[in-house]
Amino acid sequence: MAEIILEGVTKRFPDGALAVKDVDLDIADGEFVILVGPSGCGKSTTLNMIAGLEDITEGTLRIGDRVVNDLAPKERDVAMVFQSYALYPHMNVRENMGFPLRLAKVDKVTINTKVEEAAEVLDLTEHLDRKPANLSGGQRQRVAMGRAIVRDPKAFLMDEPLSNLDAKLRVQMRTQISRLQRRLGTTTVYVTHDQTEAMTLGDRVVVMRQGLVQQIGTPAELYDFPRNIFVAGFIGSPAMNFLNATLEDGALRTALGDLPLDDRTRQSLERQNAPREVIVGLRPEAFEDVALSHDGDHAGPVFIATVEVLESLGSDVYVYFTAEGGPATTTELEELATDSGMRDTGADAHHIVVRLDAATRAREG
Ligand code: ATP
Repeated sequence: MAEIILEGVTKRFPDGALAVKDVDLDIADGEFVILVGPSGCGKSTTLNMIAGLEDITEGTLRIGDRVVNDLAPKERDVAMVFQSYALYPHMNVRENMGFPLRLAKVDKVTINTKVEEAAEVLDLTEHLDRKPANLSGGQRQRVAMGRAIVRDPKAFLMDEPLSNLDAKLRVQMRTQISRLQRRLGTTTVYVTHDQTEAMTLGDRVVVMRQGLVQQIGTPAELYDFPRNIFVAGFIGSPAMNFLNATLEDGALRTALGDLPLDDRTRQSLERQNAPREVIVGLRPEAFEDVALSHDGDHAGPVFIATVEVLESLGSDVYVYFTAEGGPATTTELEELATDSGMRDTGADAHHIVVRLDAATRAREG
């Protein structure tokens, strides 16, 4: 086990492409850190530099107490799990899992013991003699995990390991990886473009965009205190809504009405000498149907929403609506949708009175 420390790590490819820019990141021993961001943001390149599969152009990379910039992958003592699993088709599960140990010239008895232990943990014992072609996607994925585990490496490096699985299996494997990582306590760096994976798996999440780190924080910090509009819009599903506002007389004037500011936010904006024109981010849960509102203790403006589309996901219903004078916006208002019977009428557009209960949602940052 080991900490992983990146200081000013930069990657410039020979064609001049600057894929990763000046990344500073301290990953604690045993921590589960997710690198997340849209395609091309540099997350795989960052992981590959940690693995030693890509050279570092500038900066320092430490694993444990060693600077490893110039060490070959096998000297870094990290185990990589790829999206493609990279299993050898001619080897059975036992041979695939034991392969790294065979390479390291570990004796046969030890290899067998370690493979069987890992197979037990991963529920693969009864498949040890099968070839990858005769396994399901989820089982192959577990073999790839097993091959990483048997080495007992300083760190696991995983590049989108679940993206070839169907949605249900992905959720199952997600919880399995989470449990496994906690049980083994091995430092893990995990790349994904899926913000749900990022938010559910990571102790901390690194959001990247165009080679730059946008924010590093716990899932809750990213959700509640996004540092910029990119992080605010990237984290959370359905996405945060953005509204133009003017800061005036201690309130935020918007097309939907005035949003009152709590003292803390007002003071923070004053301290920052915030410009008069600001952008307010509203999570979907900030809206509520006035007709269904149970307690009277609300401070937000009330407005008419025109519902454009309803998307039912079973437990949740996403309501896409436009508001008079305001921009198109999305939210989930399950009660609203069911109560007003929109699903029954099948109407294309529907008007509802909505309250923006945003007093506690307007935060600094
Ligand atoms: P994805 O989710 O699509 O895999 P990513 O966030 O992992 O994306 P990277 O693969 O790290 O992104 O790529 C970061 C940037 O570096 C991209 O603009 C990509 O085009 C560029 N890049 C990656 N590999 C090379 C290479 N070998 N040569 C030149 N440019 C590259």
